[in-house]
Amino acid sequence: MEFDGDLDTTEMLYDVGGERPHDEADVRLDDQLTAPPLGPPPYLSPSSASTFRSCARRWKFRYIDRLADPAGEAALAGTFAHRVLEILMDAPASERTTDRAREIARSVWPETESDPDFVALALNDVQKHRFRWLGWTAIEGLWRLENPEDITVVATEQKVDTVLGDVPFRGIVDRLERESARADAGLVVSDYKSGRAPSPRFQQDRLDQVMLYAAAVEASSGERPRAARLLYLGQCIIETEVTPELLDASMAALHDTWSSIDQAVSSTTYEASPGPLCGWCPYAGQCEEGLAELELRRSAGRIRSSAPSLRFLAAAS
Ligand code: SF4
Repeated sequence: MEFDGDLDTTEMLYDVGGERPHDEADVRLDDQLTAPPLGPPPYLSPSSASTFRSCARRWKFRYIDRLADPAGEAALAGTFAHRVLEILMDAPASERTTDRAREIARSVWPETESDPDFVALALNDVQKHRFRWLGWTAIEGLWRLENPEDITVVATEQKVDTVLGDVPFRGIVDRLERESARADAGLVVSDYKSGRAPSPRFQQDRLDQVMLYAAAVEASSGERPRAARLLYLGQCIIETEVTPELLDASMAALHDTWSSIDQAVSSTTYEASPGPLCGWCPYAGQCEEGLAELELRRSAGRIRSSAPSLRFLAAAS
């Protein structure tokens, strides 16, 4: 396996044709869910909340019916990159080099290659090479954003399990750091993103997620982080101050989502929200509205031929 590190990250955008509802880390957390077999999950994760907001029907398939939502190539490459960066940032600062990252990538690769979701992709050698390229490009993209040796790491992959307002909340914080080595320096919550950086219109939605992590860190440690950051690997950092107003707004949105889920579960009514994401929804084959949307988009030439859900149209015709 080669990680030559000479790739142009601007070419590497995990293009899923729209805003992804999933966060790699929280999907891993949700996969560990041990909820009762009948009934909704006993907590919200950012991933679950985001899925419900984008389409309640999809949320029902995933979290009530527990239908499989296997990670695709892009999500798995993102998980691979997360794992390498976790180990890298746990190392002493002076060891956080690209050479060390390559070694870690090689050692982590067998874990990825044996993941059932990866095996299910049935990639040929050329496709596997592309997968490794995607993963490595995301990893190397960290150096385009910061010098990892300068980061004062407090924790990596920290699970948070708390109650925000009246909502049971769980998530995984990719990285918690101090702004300098001084003990009284501010805390920063950072979340790695291997997908395409959102346009300004969608940034607030993404920042809501790290704001919730900041709230969860404060609830469990008693210390309010100063800032929350999204690290779009190879692209840009989107940062916001953690203010009482922003925390309140994010927690109010979480409360509203939790209440909406409660109502949907009580009434067993899960509205479909057809749109661009139907092209990447693993449940489109079981969703009448989704199939109609796909047909409409295909006729109008408004969906990429690579959209995986198009296979359901072929199966339905
Ligand atoms: S196909 Fe579209 S409308 Fe149907 S569940 Fe999936 S995202 Fe929602």
